[in-house]
Amino acid sequence: MLRTYFVETWGCQMNVLDSQRLAGVLEAHGLRPADRPEDADITLLNTCSVREKAVHKVLTRLGELKQVKQALGRPRVVGLCGCVAEQEGRGLLARTAVLDFVLGPGRVAQLGRALEAVAAGEKVSLTGFSPSQEYDAHLIARGGGARQFVTVIHGCNQHCTFCIVPYTRGHEASRSLAEIAREVEALVAAGAKEITLLGQTINAYRCPATGAGFGELLGTLGAVPGVWRIQFVTSHPKFFIDNMIEAIATTPNLGTYLHVPFQSGSDAVLKRMHRGYTRDGYVELVGKLRGAMPEVTLSTDVIVGFPGETEEDFEATLDVVSQVRFGQLYGFIFSPRPRTPAARYPGRVPRTVARGRLERLFALQATVQFELNQSLINRDVEVLVDGPAKRGAESWQGRGPDNRVVNFPAWNGIRAGEVARVVVTGATAHALLGVRAADRKNGWPTPAA
Ligand code: SF4
Repeated sequence: MLRTYFVETWGCQMNVLDSQRLAGVLEAHGLRPADRPEDADITLLNTCSVREKAVHKVLTRLGELKQVKQALGRPRVVGLCGCVAEQEGRGLLARTAVLDFVLGPGRVAQLGRALEAVAAGEKVSLTGFSPSQEYDAHLIARGGGARQFVTVIHGCNQHCTFCIVPYTRGHEASRSLAEIAREVEALVAAGAKEITLLGQTINAYRCPATGAGFGELLGTLGAVPGVWRIQFVTSHPKFFIDNMIEAIATTPNLGTYLHVPFQSGSDAVLKRMHRGYTRDGYVELVGKLRGAMPEVTLSTDVIVGFPGETEEDFEATLDVVSQVRFGQLYGFIFSPRPRTPAARYPGRVPRTVARGRLERLFALQATVQFELNQSLINRDVEVLVDGPAKRGAESWQGRGPDNRVVNFPAWNGIRAGEVARVVVTGATAHALLGVRAADRKNGWPTPAA
């Protein structure tokens, strides 16, 4: 009989939430969480395939689990979940003895079926997507934190030429607004303060029951009594329309963080990426967003070394970074993913060139970030306290409305999940330092007990 479980999570916030869904199904079957895979009867690898070598990484991890199982007899059951499961599922099941089942992201709700098959001595691969995308909100094992994720839209229809997501997470499907609102109300009643809404193209949201768009969704959720802050990721530049920007700007309790990937500053590269906007269109959008929300902090994703990217193309990317001045930037070297058109494009950029470009991009961004962070010194910000910066550390951390992390000395009685006012006292490119506003007024931080 299986009594304990461990879920190992790789990748994005979607996977974090999917892991909570997997854990919820296991707990509904009477299993309890274990601290380590080697203490668990069943271990699930919830994988990510956005970057290269994902399969290699999975095989390495499965090899390690096989050794642990041979030495300790645990984990007795190993399941492969997430995007690598969807991408490689049946093949890996056939060639990896330690693996007992495969479960794609569109089949999380069917984990119980996989467990029944395992109990019957079968190896199953459950992948693909049902049009309704079953979503068992009541089963999610959320762990009671103050910061919670809620999916509002599954999958993606965009087929950017570099991206594997439409193949691993299926077609776009929005959840009903009423169902999402009920989930948010229940989370707030259970103590959640900040709700981060998730979707690959979140601003393409459209309620299947009423046709309500993303602006209406935000307006409804921001007004849920007790919601302290609403955040959302990820927006696609081409789905922003003027009345949506207006609706976002007037949403009650909305954070000031907006993640809007631009990927490249070159129109030629954007076209080959199939992104559906131009460099000027993106910069114009930034102007509109800042016009409507002067406090907004923009964050973005950039790919360097996309096939055919010239030095001139890359300099156009640097130019956008200089001009827009993002608060955060996630940069990646192009990684050819199976089944995607860009994996077959000619003009592969040599790895050393791509790496050099990424370093230049990060150096520029570090300068921008340092200047932006310095400008926040002496600001009084409201943070949601996460906990100690590192295990056992006296320094704690929290996040402001712009998603920036602030580190500060703990005070007597500090609790994870409380909302506190902190004054920023120092800044580097990557971190803010602060003290509790009340302590600053008293002249000196109060030491922790
Ligand atoms: S919009 Fe995002 S998730 Fe969808 S294909 Fe493009 S990069 Fe991938």
